[in-house]
Amino acid sequence: MPAVTDPLATPLQFLKGVGPRRAADFERIGVHTVEDLLLRLPRRYENRADVVPIARMRPGQTTTIIGEVVTSGIRPTRRPGFRLFELAVRDASGVTRAVFPNQAFLRDVFQPGQHVVLFGPVEFRQGLQISNPDYEILRDDGEEPEATIHTGRIVPVYEKAGTLTPRIQRSLVHRVLAELPADLPDPLPATVRRARQLMSRREALHLAHFPEAGADVEQLNACATDAQQRLIFEEFFLFQAGVLLRRARQRGDRKPKPVTIDDRVRESARRVLPFKLTDGQREALRAIVADMQKPEPMNRLLQGDVGAGKTIVALIAAIVAMENGLQVAFMAPTEILADQHYVTIRRLLDASRFRIARLTGSVPAAKRRATLAEIASGAVNLVVGTHALAEKGVAFAALGLVIIDEQHRFGVIQRAALREKGTNPDVLVMTATPIPRTLALTTFGDLDVSTIRGLPPGRTPIRTIARSETRRDEVYALVREAVEAGRQAYVIYPLVEDSEKVDLKAATAMAEHLQAEVFPQYHVALLHGRLKADEKERVMAAFARGDVHILVATTVVEVGVDVPNATVMVVEHAERFGLSQLHQLRGRVGRGAAASTCVLVSPPRMGETSQARIDALVASTDGFEIAERDLELRGPGDFFGTRQSGLPSLRVGDLMRDRRLMDLARVEAERWMAEESATSPLTSYLTANWAGRFGLVGVG
Ligand code: ADP
Ligand code: MG
Repeated sequence: MPAVTDPLATPLQFLKGVGPRRAADFERIGVHTVEDLLLRLPRRYENRADVVPIARMRPGQTTTIIGEVVTSGIRPTRRPGFRLFELAVRDASGVTRAVFPNQAFLRDVFQPGQHVVLFGPVEFRQGLQISNPDYEILRDDGEEPEATIHTGRIVPVYEKAGTLTPRIQRSLVHRVLAELPADLPDPLPATVRRARQLMSRREALHLAHFPEAGADVEQLNACATDAQQRLIFEEFFLFQAGVLLRRARQRGDRKPKPVTIDDRVRESARRVLPFKLTDGQREALRAIVADMQKPEPMNRLLQGDVGAGKTIVALIAAIVAMENGLQVAFMAPTEILADQHYVTIRRLLDASRFRIARLTGSVPAAKRRATLAEIASGAVNLVVGTHALAEKGVAFAALGLVIIDEQHRFGVIQRAALREKGTNPDVLVMTATPIPRTLALTTFGDLDVSTIRGLPPGRTPIRTIARSETRRDEVYALVREAVEAGRQAYVIYPLVEDSEKVDLKAATAMAEHLQAEVFPQYHVALLHGRLKADEKERVMAAFARGDVHILVATTVVEVGVDVPNATVMVVEHAERFGLSQLHQLRGRVGRGAAASTCVLVSPPRMGETSQARIDALVASTDGFEIAERDLELRGPGDFFGTRQSGLPSLRVGDLMRDRRLMDLARVEAERWMAEESATSPLTSYLTANWAGRFGLVGVG
C-alpha cells in the first residue's frame, strides 16, 4: 500500500549514484521516486545469455564473448578528430578486437588483466572485431560475479533519457531491486491477487526488469509474461478502482428535486412524439427516466450508431425535466448542429407551453443579454447551444438536466463546467459514434451506459462504393440520377487547419464548377465554417427545404445534420478523413426510406492506412465494428482527436495491446468496490492520489 513509509516513495535523488544531474534528467521524464523508476519498464529485452568462444565469432551476428583484456589504448584514425578506443581480448580459443568509437574515457575503465563480458555486433574490418559493445568488467581475478547485469543474461534495455544511458539505468534499477525489502507492500488487495493468481509485486518487479534465464524474449518484448501482465493489471485495477470510487462519490450527491412521473408528464411526452420509438430507444429512455427519478444525479452515456435516433430520446428526457419545473441545457459541438437541434426541438415543442432559447457564439450581444436574463430568471425552460453555454456569465434558475451531444468533441472540463451551473443536475452524454468498449471503460468509466442497437425501421441500408478520381463522371452520373428523382446530394471536401486556405479554395472552386459546368440546371450551394452564422443557417435551411439540390460542404455537416431527402453522399479526398469521421459523414444519408449511396472518392493510389480505412468503410455499415477498426488503425490517443479526452496516462499498460486486461481489471474493481472498499486502505490512497497518478487533475 503506497503510504508515507513506503520504501518505493523514496525520492530518486537520495539514492547512491544519482547526483543532481541525473536526478534532473529523471525529473524531466517524470521519474521522481523509486516507484516511478521501477514502473518504467524496459523498452525491450535482449538475450545476451549465450557466450560464444572468440574463435567462433561470425560477422553479422550479435554476440556475447567473455575474455581477458590483453592490451587497451586509443588509436587515431585518418578522420580528423575521430579516435578509436580499442581492446584486444583473449579467451582459450583465440584473440579479437573490441572497438569503441570516440570514447577516450574508456582508457580509465579498462586495464590489461581484467576479465570482461562484451556484447555487440561482430564486423569484418581489417579482421574480425566486435563493435561498440556493451561491456561489463568481471572481478579482476577472472571469476564470474554472482550476477552479471549487462551481459551474459537476458538484459533489459531502457529508453535513453538525457545523460541516462540504458546502461546507467540498468545498474540503478538492479541496485534498487536488490535493496527492496522482502515484505514490499503491494497495492493489489490480497483477494484480487488470489482471484487472479498473481505473483507478489516484489517478484513481478524483479522479473519484469531482470527476467530469469531461459525466459522467452519474444514474450517479454510483447509485454506478455506473467510478471509484466501482473504489473499492467495492477495499474489498470488502480485506475478502475479510482473510477468507481469517483462514481460512488458522485452518487453520494443529492439533487434538490428528483423528477416524478404521472399521467400528465406521460401525456406531454406522448404529444410531441412524431413516431413510435424503437425497442432500443424505449429501453434507453426507461433507464434514463429511472435515473432521473432517483435522489442521486444521473451520469449516463447514451450511445448508438449514427442515425440510431438519440435526439428524440434526449428530448423526451428534457420534457420530463421541464414538466417537473426544471430547466434543461442542451449542448452541441458546432453551431450548425446547435442550430439544427434548436429548429427541431422548437418544431416538436411548438404546441407546448415551454420556452426554448438558443445560445451560441454568434447570437448578437443585445439578444444574448436578454436570453441570459431569461435563463437566469427561469423564463426559458430549455436552452440549446454550443460551448457558449458553459461560459461564465451563464446562470440558471433551476438547471436540472444537462444534455451533451457528441461528447468527445468536448473536453471533460467543459462537461464539468456545465454541470456546475446546476445543483447536482442529471447529466446525459450522447456520443456521435460508438466507442470501443475499452475506451468507453476508460474515458467514460464513471458513467452508466445505455446503448441503442439498430436503426429506426424503414431504412434501406446504405450502399458504399469507392471510386478513383479518374472516374468522376460516374460519380456525377449517380448524383444526377438522384437529383432527377427528386432527391438531394452532399459533396464533402476535407478541411484541415494546416491547409485551410487551400482546402477552402478547392471546395469553393468545386462548388462553382459543379454549378456552372456539371449541374447548371440545379441549385448548388456551398457551406463551410467560415461563413457567417446567419449565412450558414440560410444555406442549411434551403437545403433542408429542398431548394438546394447539391450541397458542397466542408466537414461542418459531419455531425448530426439531418435531411432525410438527401440520398447521395460524395466524399472527395476520402483518403484524408478519419474512419469514424467517414462513418459520420455517411450517416448523413440513409435517413429516409429511399436507397442511399455513399461514394468515397480518392486518388488511384494511396497510403496503406488510407486504403485500409476506405476498405473498412466499404465492408461494414456497423458503427460498432468500425469504431473497433478505427481504434486499431489510430491508437487510443488519436481516437478522440482531443487531448482533453480524459484518457489516463499509463506507465506500464497500453490501452490497445492490453485491452483484455482492462476488462478483467474492471470486473475485479467492481467486486472490490462492492465488498471491500469501505474498509480498504486503498480507498483513501486512491481518493487522494488517483487523479494525479493518472494525469487527470482537473477532470470533471
Ligand atoms: P442520431 O442518433 O445519429 O443523433 P437522430 O436522433 O438525428 O440520430 O435521428 C436520425 C433520424 O431518425 C431523424 O430523422 C429522426 O427523426 C429519425 N428517427 C429517430 N427515431 C425514429 C423512430 N423511432 N422512427 C422513425 N424515425 C426515427
Ligand atoms: Mg445526433
